[in-house]
Amino acid sequence: MSSTGKVFLVGAGPGDLGLVTLRARELISLADVLVYDYLAHPELVKWCKPGCEVIYVGKKAGFHSAPQSEIETILVQHAQAGRNVVRLKGGDPFVFGRGGEEARTLAKNDIAFEVVPGVTAALAAGAYAGIPLTHRNTSSSVVFLTGHEDTEKHELQIDWRSYGALKGATLAIYMGMGHLRQIMTELQAGGLAPDTPAAVVQWASLGRQRSVTGTAATLADLVASAKISSPAIIFVGEVVRNHTQIDWYEHLPLFGRRVAITRTRDQNSELREKLEVLGAEVVELPLITISKDVSRDSFVEILAELGGYDWIVFTSANGVRYFFEDFFKGFNDVRALGLLRFACVGKATAREIERYKIKVECMPDAATGDSLADALAATGSLDSAKVIVVTGNLNRDKLVRKLEAAHAIVDQLPLYKTEKTDLANDPVADDFRQKGADAILFSSSSAVTSYSEQAASLELAAGATKPLVGSIGPQTTETLTDLGLKPDFEAYKSNLDALISALIAKLKA
Ligand code: SAH
Repeated sequence: MSSTGKVFLVGAGPGDLGLVTLRARELISLADVLVYDYLAHPELVKWCKPGCEVIYVGKKAGFHSAPQSEIETILVQHAQAGRNVVRLKGGDPFVFGRGGEEARTLAKNDIAFEVVPGVTAALAAGAYAGIPLTHRNTSSSVVFLTGHEDTEKHELQIDWRSYGALKGATLAIYMGMGHLRQIMTELQAGGLAPDTPAAVVQWASLGRQRSVTGTAATLADLVASAKISSPAIIFVGEVVRNHTQIDWYEHLPLFGRRVAITRTRDQNSELREKLEVLGAEVVELPLITISKDVSRDSFVEILAELGGYDWIVFTSANGVRYFFEDFFKGFNDVRALGLLRFACVGKATAREIERYKIKVECMPDAATGDSLADALAATGSLDSAKVIVVTGNLNRDKLVRKLEAAHAIVDQLPLYKTEKTDLANDPVADDFRQKGADAILFSSSSAVTSYSEQAASLELAAGATKPLVGSIGPQTTETLTDLGLKPDFEAYKSNLDALISALIAKLKA
């Protein structure tokens, strides 16, 4: 049986990426097959190794999800074919997640498996809504219940009255939104005081989290008027009172704000993380894709004479990454770089260079190609110096011309290409069209160009929120303005933190 693969039933937590366990991340990065059925965070799939087969078995618009038996068959067949399978589940696999059924099927088929717990929705909803599930004086037990045990059976299965009679307990009800009014009525019929605090927390831990608090008697009406629906946890118990005092998440500066970001898929995660930490809901419009595109001949030529160059200039972190990938294919000793001096356009690029323990000797204050050329010229070392400028397919002529004007001998080394991503059928783009956003952030001219070229695919529906336009700096602002998209705010310095500060200031104004 040694050729049989193993199946990992892995809890992915409630949605926020930071709440995924290290074990889950490790297993995703090793998996041959990834099977998931809920709205997984888009980053999770990026952790897969190249060649990993990703199988989505959940609901697609207008379609039902694959039946449970079919999912189990997929797990068994892939494992029997010798593949390691990660079966990713929202929250925890053993809390209303049918993980038990899948584990039994695997056991029955003699397939080895492991179960990785995850942060279950009730824990996340409690933490992110300021509702501790227990409290020394008022609540000494917690009950996890499901309001909807079986999607095929619509009548209530649980004896709610007996839970209404419990004293000093917190009830955390999953899948209960469809029966909220009925559940509250039954709990009260069982003895629950009508003024017992109760809350609903939807999309816990995500930027689009919403919550409503009231009492057992008022909750259903409050939820109906706030138009809150699934997925949500219903809490009932004295602990809900804490919400008003210790709800930290819903007070973050960007909580409740939808922010569209327009960088490339690879670059987006840093900006996304920074915005999510501040409570924003991030809509990622991957307008451009950067891919490696090395001109073999010039690379080999330049590598052969590396010792003869004085400076190497990078204008993007991708350029650094691609350069070193290929450099180490040719050399296995970093000293082959000789005395080459490193210059780069901005902090993100510098960080990538410093990962190789190489000092960046020249970086301008403003992160533009123009300022980089000025900063290099100001070192006084360009006269007759040999300079490599690592580029993409977009033109860097201005930078090169300026260096040449300072009497440098420049060789361009094209390593990547920037292309626009087609958004016509992208579900995220559709979400953007339907709902719009409070703001859209542009952090490069190429994203602006791609955005304007795809304006038709991104046209907002009637009633969608028209976003404020934010720019990372003068160059991006110039491109936006040229295309008739004059920004509403600009970062005071060309970096992501400054862009976010400008956004917060603008939204407050
Ligand atoms: N195994 C999952 C539960 C799956 S059942 C877990 O451990 O969390 C699906 C139900 O979980 C939803 O109907 C909702 O009640 C709850 N749920 C899942 N994610 C949620 C979230 N982010 N916020 C609030 N409730 C959530």
